[in-house]
Amino acid sequence: MEFKADALVLRATDWGEYDKIVTLFTAERGKLSAALKGVKRAGAKLKFAAQPFCFAEYVLVEKAGRRTVISASMHDGFYALREDICCFYAAAVIAEACDKLLYEGMVSPELFLSAVRGLEELSALAEGSETPLEDGKSGSSYVLLKFLLKALKEAGYPVTAGNCPHCGEPLSGRMRFDMASGVFGCEACGGGVPASESTYLAIRAAYGEGGEATADGVKRALRLLSAYFSYQASELPALEEYLRT
Ligand SMILES: [Zn+2]
Repeated sequence: MEFKADALVLRATDWGEYDKIVTLFTAERGKLSAALKGVKRAGAKLKFAAQPFCFAEYVLVEKAGRRTVISASMHDGFYALREDICCFYAAAVIAEACDKLLYEGMVSPELFLSAVRGLEELSALAEGSETPLEDGKSGSSYVLLKFLLKALKEAGYPVTAGNCPHCGEPLSGRMRFDMASGVFGCEACGGGVPASESTYLAIRAAYGEGGEATADGVKRALRLLSAYFSYQASELPALEEYLRT
């Protein structure tokens, strides 16, 4: 059986002397792996289709449960990402988060779109063609924060940054974040790990619910999401790496 799929390369592994196995995130079929034969040979036509972050229309053949890519036409290779180390690491977080969140058979066109949009934004930042915004919203970390919040929501682990769920009061100053429910609450009502107001405000800003996103707040929010992601799904080594750069 032959089929076409718009897909993003999440991961590529060497296979034998000349082949690669790619993990593709497709809009309509979720995550799947496929072989790319001979792509490690010099001058191989499909070399681009095994590159990380490649966004292309793939043509695959499925035989006895094994898939092979027979052709591909590129939508975007996001090559500009290679010019900026922060944007490149941030893109690696997007790919890794999708890989970790997508279980067998999970189809999410919304997550697919968010991932492509996130890579586009990072690419534009790396090229320097993006207009810088004020405060913490200008960098790759804000793109990443917006993406991770969306990805966690799509996977069923939404983060809620509204009023305190216990007393209903608006939150300010010192507060808490409950890892089990993903909800911010006040310090007095208890439950969860300590969280700062700047973290909470950065997350509200990323949701478009007002709130100021300082550069420090965005970094703190990413650290909190790293812990939350580990708690709910799995560790994200690429995010740890990104936060160290
Ligand atoms: Zn409360």
